[in-house]
Amino acid sequence: MTLVPSIPRILALSPLVASQIAAGEVVERPASVVKELVENSIDAGSTSISVELEQGGTELIRVTDNGCGVERADLPLAISPHATSKVASVEDLDHVATLGFRGEALASIASVSRLSIRSRTATDPSGAAWQLETEGRVEGLGEQDVRPASGPVGTSITVRNLFFNTPARRKFLRTISTEQSRCIDTVLELALSHPGLAFLCKAQGRTMLDVPPNQSPRERALDVLGRELGPELLEVSADQLDDSRGISLWGLVGRPSIARATRAAQHTFVNGRAVRDRTIQHALSEPFRGIIEPGRHPTALLMIEMSPAGVDVNVHPQKAEVRFRDSGVVHSVVYHAVKRALAEADLTASFHALRPSPWRGDPRAIIPPSRSDAVEPGLSSPAGTTQVATGSFVDYFKRFTRPASAEPLSFEAIRQAVDAAPFESRPPAPAVELSEQSPITEPVGATSFIPTPAARLLQVHNSFVVTQDEHGVLIVDQHALHERVMFESLLARVTQSDLESQRLLTPVIVDAGPAQVARLDELTPLLTRIGVDAAPLGPKQIAVHAFPTFLFDRRVEPAEFLTSLFDQASASDFVPGSEDALRDVLDMMACKAAVKAGDRMTDSELHELMRLRDAVERSSNCPHGRPTTVRLSIRELERLFGRA
Ligand code: ADP
Ligand code: MG
Repeated sequence: MTLVPSIPRILALSPLVASQIAAGEVVERPASVVKELVENSIDAGSTSISVELEQGGTELIRVTDNGCGVERADLPLAISPHATSKVASVEDLDHVATLGFRGEALASIASVSRLSIRSRTATDPSGAAWQLETEGRVEGLGEQDVRPASGPVGTSITVRNLFFNTPARRKFLRTISTEQSRCIDTVLELALSHPGLAFLCKAQGRTMLDVPPNQSPRERALDVLGRELGPELLEVSADQLDDSRGISLWGLVGRPSIARATRAAQHTFVNGRAVRDRTIQHALSEPFRGIIEPGRHPTALLMIEMSPAGVDVNVHPQKAEVRFRDSGVVHSVVYHAVKRALAEADLTASFHALRPSPWRGDPRAIIPPSRSDAVEPGLSSPAGTTQVATGSFVDYFKRFTRPASAEPLSFEAIRQAVDAAPFESRPPAPAVELSEQSPITEPVGATSFIPTPAARLLQVHNSFVVTQDEHGVLIVDQHALHERVMFESLLARVTQSDLESQRLLTPVIVDAGPAQVARLDELTPLLTRIGVDAAPLGPKQIAVHAFPTFLFDRRVEPAEFLTSLFDQASASDFVPGSEDALRDVLDMMACKAAVKAGDRMTDSELHELMRLRDAVERSSNCPHGRPTTVRLSIRELERLFGRA
């Protein structure tokens, strides 16, 4: 028996079904409705926008604005698919200045909910508002459906029973509290990028956000993200609008101490539109390399403004991604601005920043307790969800205390290294904005340690150095700081020439695996750069003829060093010719050569170490990104002793 397949008939979809299918892309969850409605309010020139939510937006989302409103006759059109007042031709897409442009949001939302719109324009001759209830329809809507209503100039759109007619979609929703936090995060994000507009957001009648109009971007950021973060945020800016490819940037980046395990606390905007973009993420992360631990991500708010012609916004259904005409320029502007901000700041970790719960947000941005099921909340996360600190001060230090070593110290080598290295002098510290400070943390961008002869240094448990600066007590991890100092000096030198090396009278024979001997050729250019001359000696041995003077002076054994190097080189992401590989190896050298926890240091060595701290860049963190220095400010001390 043969089965004759039946040939399916092709039918045109009804507008309702077509919109429901389109809604699958645009309206994924309540937060997508919130985004589309608030964006429409912003596009309508509103100065005040309020959002009400019930049951995480599944029962009710109402967005009310004081914008231009919709003409009575246009109300049915606003809800029809592909009807928009924002673009008229394909060419218009090249310079979209509004957040919306596809004309499908209201139709999509109306097809999967009970949507009603009430609107009044300032010019309506009747002086009345008009209302349209869709009851799940997107077709056949006309003047007969528009009823008179009362209300102020502006628009109020109410969306009830989301996904009531698409149960499959409804099933994909997470818990009410998760959906609610996503809706609130969406409003927070839009509020961040539009500091000129007032926002009010209520969920189940509780106020979640209430911010006034006409705020500066900084004020708005602090209101939304939490005032306590003020001292942890560094300002970044760049203005290249005069350039033909004009682009300007303003933003805030978090100090290393508030880096996070995910990118959830990175808010990036292009022309007021929240976007996720690899170019921007990379440009933001690069300057933090070596000041935060690998796998962690800087927190940031970055607002990029550029000509609409420089960016294609029509590449993602929810408009969450964009394509730059020239992503190189965007990268360079972000990278240099962030790098400069970090270079100008004193990144010494404050005791305050290391405590477990520095994330109490502004009370106005409090998120309900049910938020805990969100995977990684945004910057507005409540106390207790912190990823910032790992625990107590003591735990903090335990993490990187290393075993003792009896190796004698020679600071001569580092001294020469650092003196020989062409360090860029540090730019002057920026003026301190005292008004922005939280009362118990030391000022942002403060000046660095001043090694006056009077500054006394105390080595504690042969591991930490305790001293003071004008803000309070400094506690230095001797190994971490020495490692950073060595690393910077090696890095500076290797960019000039190959590292200086010491010929060995008799070669040192190192036992190695056949695989390692086989890789020696591939590694030779890297070895030459760092001053190692090594050649195979049979299938399982390597002869080392020359060794970096730096390591030699610090009594590092060639065998031990090469074993570590081969270990590093066996990592899957180790690319022998790459800058990353070079940095990794230099870091390993610095780590091996650095003074260890447990090493006793003389007074002059301690002074020398602290002098070097000031001489190198990024001395606040070791090359792995962990802090070298923690400051306990006088204010903090006063607070701890109940004096303030
Ligand atoms: P788009 O935003 O892409 O134009 P929408 O479906 O979101 O498409 O909205 C359709 C149209 O309805 C808009 O172009 C606008 O003219 C009108 N509209 C929607 N919301 C508002 C609002 N809050 N105030 C004024 N007009 C609005
Ligand atoms: Mg829209």
